Amino acid sequence: MFSSFLIKYAEIGIKGKNRYLFEDALVRQIKYATKKCSGEFTLSKTPGRIFVDADGDFDYDEIIEKLSHVFGIWGICPVVRLDVIEPEALYKEIITFFDKVYPDKNKTFKVAARRANKSYPLDSMELNKKIGEELLNAFPELKVDIHDPEITLTVEIRDRIYIYSEIIPGPGGMPVGTNGKGMLLLSGGIDSPVAGWMVAKRGLKIDAVYFHAPPYTSERAKQKVVDLAKKVSAYTGPIYLHVINFTDIQLYIYEKCPHDELTIIMRRYMMRIAEEIAKETECQCLITGESIGQVASQTTQSLAVTNEVCELPVFRPLIAFDKEDIVTISKKIDTYETSILPFEDCCTIFVAKHPVTKPNLGIIKKHETNLEEKIDEMVKTALDTRETIIVTEE
Ligand code: ATP
Ligand code: MG
Repeated sequence: MFSSFLIKYAEIGIKGKNRYLFEDALVRQIKYATKKCSGEFTLSKTPGRIFVDADGDFDYDEIIEKLSHVFGIWGICPVVRLDVIEPEALYKEIITFFDKVYPDKNKTFKVAARRANKSYPLDSMELNKKIGEELLNAFPELKVDIHDPEITLTVEIRDRIYIYSEIIPGPGGMPVGTNGKGMLLLSGGIDSPVAGWMVAKRGLKIDAVYFHAPPYTSERAKQKVVDLAKKVSAYTGPIYLHVINFTDIQLYIYEKCPHDELTIIMRRYMMRIAEEIAKETECQCLITGESIGQVASQTTQSLAVTNEVCELPVFRPLIAFDKEDIVTISKKIDTYETSILPFEDCCTIFVAKHPVTKPNLGIIKKHETNLEEKIDEMVKTALDTRETIIVTEE
């Protein structure tokens, strides 16, 4: 029955003169999301609204699923699209529509007609009145409530006629790519995919870096990260995933630095390397899945010491989230099942029994001088030998 979808957009409606940039980005993201759907679609943009019109057969559930992954969409209205027809024929179509969509007629409703095509014989007010009467005649259980109706039936007369009444919630946020680009430190855990998703929801394009420590971390652990990036890319579009071989650096830190400071020093090198790639690829920020107090390396003091090596801002969207709340989001965005697969992470392998929880920056810096001889060369090698995988949704 439905042949079009009216896309209602979220905050981008209020962006003033730059609005077209946001609309264009949204159209681009919708195109990307619908590209792999069965069926052909035409997108059209009129002021304040975007229509996705199906040209022939398509899979309704599939397109709704894809559209509900596009940030910037506030709501998706399934629309019946008709050629412009005489009022009498239109009433018949509306009655059929109503009957199919609402088997239970014991409802309150109002009609919101809009005549954009001024050559149509009835104006908006007349249409409201006539359509309301016809519906009441056809279904006597219906009641009109113009202030707080259960059903608002919209009928728009344009170059075609559009009829719709339902709004399926979209994900909200802003279209990816409208707020710059960030480099996500993506591990195989629960938190970092959620952090990436949250920031992308605010319009950031995402690239990612994963620190791999073969043979201590397996190919399967790496594949898990690729799979997580795939899940996130269902929302963000393609993700460039940089895989850094971190083994030699980790072993060197292990050899040269006190073991209780291992994690924090290692994390400082992760941030430094991530920032190098971020700058090279024109990212304006780093993103991590850190949350205050979750582990020793995420106490306020540890975060301060890690942060100290970065020039770019580090966004930590989960900073004040409880684990339980993070898990809820990871289930919603379908990363949870992958995140809990039991593969080793490079951080856990060299972890000390009693890592420092209140690291002192001066002392950490002093111990880092133990690495002076080889570390710059090692960082350079790690950067030069990185593997870059372009991850797209399957
Ligand atoms: P997550 O669930 O995201 O793995 P976590 O609770 O395990 O987080 P840590 O292991 O301390 O916490 O990592 C904190 C953050 O550092 C992660 O959220 C991620 O952004 C980054 N990170 C940790 N390990 C890696 C890695 N191997 N590669 C890339 N980033 C990493
Ligand atoms: Mg982790």
